[in-house]
Amino acid sequence: MTQNPGKPASPADPRALDLYDFATSGRQAAGALRVSQMPRMLAEVPADAPDRDTVFTWQGEGSTQPELQDDGTEAPQPYLRLAVHGSVYLLCQRCLTPYSQHVDVDATYRIVATEEEADEFPLDDDEVDVIVGSRQFDLVDLIEEELLLSLPLVPKHNVCPEVHESLLAGSDDEADEGGAQDEAEKPNPFAVLGKLKSGGPDDKKH
Ligand SMILES: [Zn+2]
Repeated sequence: MTQNPGKPASPADPRALDLYDFATSGRQAAGALRVSQMPRMLAEVPADAPDRDTVFTWQGEGSTQPELQDDGTEAPQPYLRLAVHGSVYLLCQRCLTPYSQHVDVDATYRIVATEEEADEFPLDDDEVDVIVGSRQFDLVDLIEEELLLSLPLVPKHNVCPEVHESLLAGSDDEADEGGAQDEAEKPNPFAVLGKLKSGGPDDKKH
């Protein structure tokens, strides 16, 4: 990385990005976003999570691709590629404890000028989404939207942590001894069944 003291670095404000310029000049940007900066994401984080304010890193890259226009000429069409990586605590719907969910986003957007143009764009391409560009584009809002869409429908651990019975029933040693004693005192249900079979009044030997 080269330092340029004469020209102070002016990192583009990700909340007010000139998306057209970003794309046509093939610029790149990267940054980090805390969950606390994304209120709709924060709303998904359980109150008792070990860390409610985890960090996501993001990278954006602008580009253009020549595209055939209605008048038969080719013109550069602006594109944005966005990658987001990080983890957020969600509430496991199986055991109702917080767990850390990793989220990856890698999306490519065709940038159009109006909502109408976006609606007209055929949605048969799974690889490319359409966004309406702006000279003051809120990239943070787009990142949050993508993260929300990437969250699992039913958040849950891959494998829920086992809750040891001793945590529910009391201290370890007493619970173990008590358990063994109970087993010894309880009549074995199969033994009882055996007695009924052999000693019943309907003995077929007669
Ligand atoms: Zn769980």
